[in-house]
Amino acid sequence: MLSRRPQATIDLTALEHNFTRVKQLAPNSKVLAVLKANAYGHGMLAVAQALKQADALGVARLDEALTLRAGGIAKPIVLLEGFFHPDELAQIVASNLQLVIHHREQAEALLAAALDAPVRVWLKIDTGMHRLGIYPDEFNELYQRLSQSCNVQGPLRLMSHFASSDELDKPATARQLALFQQITQGRAGEHSLANSGAVLNWPPSHADWVRPGLMLYGVSPMAEAVGCEHGLKPVMTLSSSVIAVREVKAGDAVGYGGSWIAAHNTRLAVVAMGYGDGYPRAAGNNADVLINGKRLPIVGRVSMDMITVDIGSEAVAVGDKVILWGNDLPVEQLARCVDTIPYELLCNITSRVQFNYL
Ligand code: PLP
Repeated sequence: MLSRRPQATIDLTALEHNFTRVKQLAPNSKVLAVLKANAYGHGMLAVAQALKQADALGVARLDEALTLRAGGIAKPIVLLEGFFHPDELAQIVASNLQLVIHHREQAEALLAAALDAPVRVWLKIDTGMHRLGIYPDEFNELYQRLSQSCNVQGPLRLMSHFASSDELDKPATARQLALFQQITQGRAGEHSLANSGAVLNWPPSHADWVRPGLMLYGVSPMAEAVGCEHGLKPVMTLSSSVIAVREVKAGDAVGYGGSWIAAHNTRLAVVAMGYGDGYPRAAGNNADVLINGKRLPIVGRVSMDMITVDIGSEAVAVGDKVILWGNDLPVEQLARCVDTIPYELLCNITSRVQFNYL
């Protein structure tokens, strides 16, 4: 029986290869591998199990960290968004999680808490992204009070996050790095700034810890590049199958709204993949797929469960495999076609897609 279910095939050997690439680029740094949002859609537990060499794992939220712990992951885990209610602190201590403290209220709540054991704290400074992070002029005071608190374990770790490390021509990253160095100068504690863009482009920012996310999954953070240009291998291949092949005549309009009209007689492959699976609707009339190694265009709108591909006279049959992204069809290219970033495409895959791990 033909399986209609779209597949995400996750190549854990490629993941390990990409981790090794991070180590080549930042040989003197420890690696905090970023696994938030279900490891950028790749499956958090499987990715955590495969990243044996990582020094720590980073997630955004408490429930993500607890999922890792429940799955038997014993490595250090950093909550990149910290905590939101003092009640969460008991669980954070009990689960041996590390905290990013990024605003004064969090610091005050941590300082005031009665904890069973101290927690490891990463103090995040806003050096120019203006999203999370304590203000530079709060640093001295909060650094001192947190360092002296019995709720805080060992020297504070000091971190910041880059807004534009994927853009080489912008001065913002050098400015953020200089401000970070100026603020933290002479203070004890390991430093961390570099996301994937900075691991690839800004070696002076590597410091004690790098924090790659996207590049571990084999994908380039730079808008015009693809992962293999940085020596990375794509980890996810998104595929499905042809569920019907049909003929259309010149002038026939295809799909909802009839947004594509055949210019001449041709053949269409109907593929089991739609926005209900997380494939972007904007790919309609705008992107390609691979069928039997041939790049062929999506024509008409993407619907919830299906796309239609103009296969002309290609030998395509029901049951043939269709690659939506992966080797030879980089997700970065699709992201450009649909005016988004690969991060979003990877995270959007829904639970209808079946995951297989190699
Ligand atoms: N560090 C922090 C604090 C983050 O929020 C993220 C992701 O947004 C990363 C590191 C990893 O970023 P990237 O996936 O661009 O490597």
